[in-house]
Amino acid sequence: MFEVPSKTLENGVKMPYLGLGVYKMTDREEALQAITKALEVGYRSIDTAALYDNETEVGEAIRSSNIPREEIFVTTKVWNKDQGYDNTLRAFETSLKKLGLDYIDLYLIHWPVEDKFLDTYRAIERLYDEKLIRVPGVSNHHQHHLEKIFAKANVKPMVDQIELHPYLSQKSLLNFCKENGIAVTAWGPLGRGQIVEDEKIVQLANKYNKTAAQIILRWHYQNDVITIPKSVTPSRIEENINIFNFELIQEDIQAINALNRDYRTGKDPDNFHFDF
Ligand code: NDP
Repeated sequence: MFEVPSKTLENGVKMPYLGLGVYKMTDREEALQAITKALEVGYRSIDTAALYDNETEVGEAIRSSNIPREEIFVTTKVWNKDQGYDNTLRAFETSLKKLGLDYIDLYLIHWPVEDKFLDTYRAIERLYDEKLIRVPGVSNHHQHHLEKIFAKANVKPMVDQIELHPYLSQKSLLNFCKENGIAVTAWGPLGRGQIVEDEKIVQLANKYNKTAAQIILRWHYQNDVITIPKSVTPSRIEENINIFNFELIQEDIQAINALNRDYRTGKDPDNFHFDF
């Protein structure tokens, strides 16, 4: 069993620095097996979304683990077509029902849908007031989206989940979030698996006698970033959580920082069109 340290969010809630991402786990058995394996080896945070179509499996795996509910940090997200005030409240109810839970730890706006995300956030604030979620948050929000929310909101988002990895270091957004008490979660922390073959990362893996994925995940952690690597492979699920027993020296952190090439594996939040 691995123990994962937690980050204390703006309202005092503790969020594990590492969790399991479950995007693309649409095969029921595969999802149940991966989540069960993760909970067995010590993961206590699961990142899902209405879009991923596996909230039911996430809830089932949590219940059958017999781990007390309050020990597991569950994140889900409102999808683009469900945004707006009333729609978000309805979408939240659906997610809660599918998960079979009576509260969600962290609820995120999946993408900042123009003309809608401010109303969506208002609904998230209401869910927070009603204690149906423990933490209000957003995903794929740039500084200018966050500033628009700040201008209207009573409570600032406490988490922004953004694409972040050695090829997309997001330095200015990270600084902005830090100044405003917003914790950053990296999605695609391994560059969707693409960066494990990077020459510099492989060289560091050899130096520390770790795997490339472990070097990348450790780099995120030492940069104070929460990660949610996805894997359905049991050995990788275990490998990815086994990063809290070694330390990268500053020089190597800098070397990884220098790999940035502003490369996105996904869409740019200023230019996305998801019509589903
Ligand atoms: P990741 O960077 O986590 O990469 C996942 C890929 O890397 C999979 O193909 C996996 O393969 C492979 N992999 C995992 N561990 C290792 C390892 N140790 N060595 C080599 N390869 C490995 O990308 P994701 O896009 O899945 O991002 C993680 C999570 O972030 C998602 O699951 C989701 O929860 C969230 N997300 C959020 C988004 C948003 O808009 N908010 C967008 C995209 C993702 P395999 O499974 O076959 O082992």
